[in-house]
Amino acid sequence: MPRVLAAVVVAMSVGANAAACDTTLPDHVRILDCPLAMAVARAAQRSAVLNDLLQRVQRTNGLIYITPPPPAGTATRLLGGFSHAVSLAGSHRILRIFVSGKLDDASMAIVGHELRHALEVLELSTAGTETEVDALFDQIGWRTSGRTGETQAALDAGYAVARELRASKAHSLLAR
Ligand SMILES: [Zn+2]
Repeated sequence: MPRVLAAVVVAMSVGANAAACDTTLPDHVRILDCPLAMAVARAAQRSAVLNDLLQRVQRTNGLIYITPPPPAGTATRLLGGFSHAVSLAGSHRILRIFVSGKLDDASMAIVGHELRHALEVLELSTAGTETEVDALFDQIGWRTSGRTGETQAALDAGYAVARELRASKAHSLLAR
C-alpha cells in the first residue's frame, strides 16, 4: 500500500497549493501545479512572446492543461511535449502540454514552443480528434520520429522566448 498512500499525499498537497496559488494566467490556460503556474506567470512578465502566446490561447476555443510529465511512460524522459490527443468538452477543445519538473528558463522556452503547437491546432484547424491533429501536422510541418511532428513556427517561438528570458536576466544582473 505505500504507493497508494504516496499518491494520496501528493494529490492533497497539489490541492492545497492550487487553492493558494494566485497567478494572472488567462483562464484558458490551466496549470494545477502551483510552482509551475507561478513559474509560467513570472516568465510571461519577462518574455513578451510568451505572454502573447498565452493571450492568443485565450482568444480561441481551446483549454490548455500544462502539467509535469506523466510519472511513467516514454514521455517521462522528455523535456516537454504536446499531446495530439485533443478532446472535446462542450464548445471547448482540450489540449495537453507537459513540461519537465525543472522550473528554469529552458523549460519556460519549451512551454512557449509547445504553446505554439497548441495554437497551430486552435488557430489553423477545427481538428477535434488525434487523427485530425496528426493530419494537420503532416500538412504544416514534418515528422521527427514516429508520430512526433515539428514545425518551424514552434521552433521559432521557443527560440524567441529563450532569447527574451536570457536578455531579461542579463538586464537584471546589470541593474543590480
Ligand atoms: Zn515541437
